[in-house]
Amino acid sequence: MTAPSSEELGEVLELIGREAARYVSELPDARVRLPGADDAALAFGGPLPEDGDGAAKALMELLERGSDGVIASSGPRFFHFVVGGSTPAALGADWLASALDQNPGAWVAAPVASRLEVVAIDWLKDLFGLPAAWGGKLTTGATMANFVGLACARRWWGLRHGIDVDAEGLAGLPRVPVLSSGYIHPSATKALAMLGIGRGSVTRLTRDAAGRLDLDALRAGLQGLAGAPAIVVGNAGEVNAGDFDPIEAMADLAEEHDAWFHVDGAFGLFAAVSPRTEHLVRGVERAHSVIADGHKWLNVPHDCGFAFVRDHELLGGAFALAAAYLPDPDDPRPNLMNLGPESSQRARGPAVWATLRAYGRSGHREVVERHLDLAQRVAARVDAAPDLERLADVTLNIVCFRYRPVGVPEDRLDDLNRRLGEAVLEDGRVYVGTTVYEGRVAFRPAIVNWRTGEDDVDLLVDVIREVGAGLTATP
Ligand SMILES: *Cc1c(COP(=O)(O)O)cnc(C)c1O
Repeated sequence: MTAPSSEELGEVLELIGREAARYVSELPDARVRLPGADDAALAFGGPLPEDGDGAAKALMELLERGSDGVIASSGPRFFHFVVGGSTPAALGADWLASALDQNPGAWVAAPVASRLEVVAIDWLKDLFGLPAAWGGKLTTGATMANFVGLACARRWWGLRHGIDVDAEGLAGLPRVPVLSSGYIHPSATKALAMLGIGRGSVTRLTRDAAGRLDLDALRAGLQGLAGAPAIVVGNAGEVNAGDFDPIEAMADLAEEHDAWFHVDGAFGLFAAVSPRTEHLVRGVERAHSVIADGHKWLNVPHDCGFAFVRDHELLGGAFALAAAYLPDPDDPRPNLMNLGPESSQRARGPAVWATLRAYGRSGHREVVERHLDLAQRVAARVDAAPDLERLADVTLNIVCFRYRPVGVPEDRLDDLNRRLGEAVLEDGRVYVGTTVYEGRVAFRPAIVNWRTGEDDVDLLVDVIREVGAGLTATP
């Protein structure tokens, strides 16, 4: 029988410190995926051990058996989804958060961790040009940040109907009208489902196959509601090509029609950080709720997202909880359990605080602007390649293109690009996913990792062409 003992700690922390240092120092040159990654993952299992072997043995086993199954998603050549890495400051602070194991749900249990979240939210509002008076909450990611923003929208909407929906629920009320473009992210509709508003409440007002907003249809849709309250969802950075809804025009319409304006800027809100792209999010400061991710372009470890809400009292209305043993609801100190969906929670403030403290506004702007340049570099290389076809303008940090070798007929390109996408992941030197853009299967690398440089994006283009040539050479 082996129970946890204090003696194990020194050995464990030393082992993990050494192994983690090795891992992150090898990341710049590491293959993103090793052959046998799935087998390594599936080899874990078996029955619950009746007796354990202690911490050191368990962790050695994890390292030895697991390492082949680790994807280098925090390294410089992971362009799949939208996944950032961890800056050194953020990684250090996040480790410390685990060692200190604070629970900032209640100030009395974790004053520094609670305060760091409050400061982190204040600094982020400044970074993104959002009004200082707004409230905010760190979350597990953009999905839960969408949930928080839309929970406040739902509360506001109910109050417009004279109902406290957080007390009474939605029964008996009309369906909540939600208007957006075709760019609305499935995490926002998932949040609507979790809130009882329903995925089906969304009307997508599109004017083309990419899903761009039909602004006239939005105006008409709001007018058609004849003054009934509604939620408008703006999308600052959609995932296929990094395009933006017209945020300022949507803010105008939302104001004219007394609608709640929620903006999903999971990665696109970082456009506000550079003078080169800030016009893309102009007007976001007139929204009612705005969200972004920390584990994408801020490069803090998973999991971390941010929700910002103009009327901070709505956060308490939606999320406050009370019990005799919990903090007094009138406690003036921030008890974060009253501002978001989680009660007990991980200390996410330290990592955000540390990366902003370590690199400041200018350091994070430099990362964003390097990625803007790298995206243009990929676009130029795609345009110069006879076997690649770019499908969209590059507004931000995503490049949407497909493999199109001479002689392959149009009706075979989707299948070819899909197979090529799988082969590139299998190859493992770079990682990039495919999507369907305007009805065509396409690659959509997203550049968000602080380590990524020119060699990494050049290799991305080279690998796609090389693996593609191999695929088309063998029938
Ligand atoms: C990634 C993303 C989300 C979801 O973010 P999670 O952090 O995975 O919850 C939502 N909206 C957009 C636009 C995204 O890119």
